Amino acid sequence: MTGTTDRRPGPFDLSVADLEALLDGEPRYRVAQVLDALHGRFAFPEEMTELPRALRDRLAVALAPALQPLGRLEADGGDTIKWVFQGADGARVETVLMAYPDRVTVCVSTQAGCAMACPFCATGQGGFVRHLSSGEIVEQVAWARRERRVTHVVFMGMGEPLANYRRSLGALRRLHRDLGISARRLTVSTVGIVPGIRRLATEGLPVNLAVSLHAANDALRDRLVPVNRRYPLAELSAACAEWVAATGRRLSLEWAVIGGVNDRAVDADELAAFADALGAHVNLIALNETPGYRSPAPPRAERFRSLLAGRGVNATLRATRGADIGAACGQLAGAPPGR
Ligand code: SAH
Repeated sequence: MTGTTDRRPGPFDLSVADLEALLDGEPRYRVAQVLDALHGRFAFPEEMTELPRALRDRLAVALAPALQPLGRLEADGGDTIKWVFQGADGARVETVLMAYPDRVTVCVSTQAGCAMACPFCATGQGGFVRHLSSGEIVEQVAWARRERRVTHVVFMGMGEPLANYRRSLGALRRLHRDLGISARRLTVSTVGIVPGIRRLATEGLPVNLAVSLHAANDALRDRLVPVNRRYPLAELSAACAEWVAATGRRLSLEWAVIGGVNDRAVDADELAAFADALGAHVNLIALNETPGYRSPAPPRAERFRSLLAGRGVNATLRATRGADIGAACGQLAGAPPGR
């Protein structure tokens, strides 16, 4: 594993004290000017024309982005955008923007690759590369913000945010405090890392939590979400209940509908019981095509939704975005564009 400390910190990894040190000898107001330029419009150093040229030149390296865009693809008439970024060490991550009539959501990666090895997810199949720094997570939002007014951020890209807890939390705090995105518009999605869920409940940060459930019996979930062997459903449910009690927020359960695997009546029964105990909302998505996994016929996901509705479960079927550019849930593999 490559550490995160041997790379130059990115602009969003710098604390105010770091910036003060960098701007030592300059008038004090320069710190606020640089912070405004970074957080307000994610200006590159050469674009900070409010600064004298000599200072801009001096900051060119220190405030250079930590991620370089290798590619940018559009789908849905420009309402879905996927970026492939490369870190200074060559690690690749992907970021997806989805514009809707009432919101613009950016889906960020928290790790290059992922160690969770869910068999139906392209990221999981590629294995783990390294953790992203807080600044690298925030910077993905900043890049998107250069193009659109971002209203919501979901930690649902490559990687498992709660397996990179400290840096993911640092990114949430910075998005909230410095980029001005309210905690209620930030969502963390987890495969179900129980200690991470418990810890998140204590942070006093009212973000949304989504748990990628996909199966509500241990035998099936052990196969679909291997980390279930470590944190089985009973423990997961208890941790989720703690989170709900501590935050008073509604939990979401994610369920990728896999035809014939987790969309039977018995699956609906088990999911209904699990969701009901937690007062959770269920987000269904038809499985996106990945190597070895086929998308279910479209009516199957809708049929499963109505099975759940018949059991009193509040479930919505999400429309997939960006499948044609490999930007849909589970398709992010960090491959360069055009492959
Ligand atoms: N590791 C975190 C964050 C990744 S979120 C988590 O698992 O929650 C990515 C979401 O897409 C998860 O809900 C994941 O289960 C789902 N997903 C993965 N592969 C998919 C696929 N092929 N089709 C649809 N959803 C998929």
